[in-house]
Amino acid sequence: MAESLKGKAVVDAMKAELSQRVEILKAKGITPKLGIIRVGARPDDLFYEGGAKKTCESIGMAYEVFEYPADIAQEAFEKAVLDVGADKTVNGILMFAPLPKHLEDKKIRSLIPVEKDVDCMNLSSAGKVFADELTGFPPCTPTACMDVLKFYDIPLKGKQVVLVGRSLVVGKPLAMLLLREHATVTICHTRTVNLPAVCAGAEILIAAAGKAKMIDSSYVKPGQIVIDVGINEDPDNPGKYCGDVDFAAVEPIVDKITPVPGGVGSVTTIVLCKHTVMACEMQHNLR
Ligand code: NDP
Repeated sequence: MAESLKGKAVVDAMKAELSQRVEILKAKGITPKLGIIRVGARPDDLFYEGGAKKTCESIGMAYEVFEYPADIAQEAFEKAVLDVGADKTVNGILMFAPLPKHLEDKKIRSLIPVEKDVDCMNLSSAGKVFADELTGFPPCTPTACMDVLKFYDIPLKGKQVVLVGRSLVVGKPLAMLLLREHATVTICHTRTVNLPAVCAGAEILIAAAGKAKMIDSSYVKPGQIVIDVGINEDPDNPGKYCGDVDFAAVEPIVDKITPVPGGVGSVTTIVLCKHTVMACEMQHNLR
């Protein structure tokens, strides 16, 4: 039976550490604050927002929701984003995406100041991540993967890591973070030839394809560590969700595996808070 790399232990440890950092900031009269920019009221956004608010509260951080109507005009929204960016009480900004189609996504993202861009919406932040400049925050999900690997003392130096997925939100930035730790990284995608064999060659396999249960027993071998980033509707259990890994088929074979739910996904909101606390410390020249 594989060791289950649960997110809860990671979250508990991070909360304890961040609560202390927030206390230190508060003693200096500073309360780190997350600004949440939401256009409209999509259920997914509201669900994530609820989790983010609770997590902020749990470590003593502040938050403020900046809510706009779904039909807000481009110009008005640009001004709103600039205003939130200029608000000195806001240290980190989370903006829900995708934005409604009538809004010019790239332009809006570029208005989020890099020093407050705690989920890597602005391409300039991504550039910093790719250049190993620590003043640019990677997106929260790749950071959550790294935090899970670190918490469970999984060595990366010299390891063969295979990543399935090359999006700008998960796959590509995660590859950069793994390279920083000296892993040897293979990035796979829909045109990868003989994907199961490539995956089975990994020491650490990370699935971020967004395809329910696609990683079955033919993709894995004994001794592997499997990190499942996927969050998909479970085709076999309506109303529930599952990862990209067929857990029942893969878990008996591999050495360690993250569950879904309760794995990487459960760590992303605390990463959002971690980035906001870091941003606050940097904005006050405290790190
Ligand atoms: P995207 O759809 O943007 O990207 C998916 C990537 O996987 C693409 O690079 C695609 O290849 C590749 N891919 C898709 N199907 C296959 C296949 N059959 N074989 C090989 N490669 C494949 O998804 P995201 O990166 O945004 O998200 C990935 C997963 O992570 C999703 O399940 C999502 O829900 C989850 N996620 C979880 C988050 C969290 O924990 N909070 C946050 C963000 C995402 P190609 O480029 O060739 O199309």
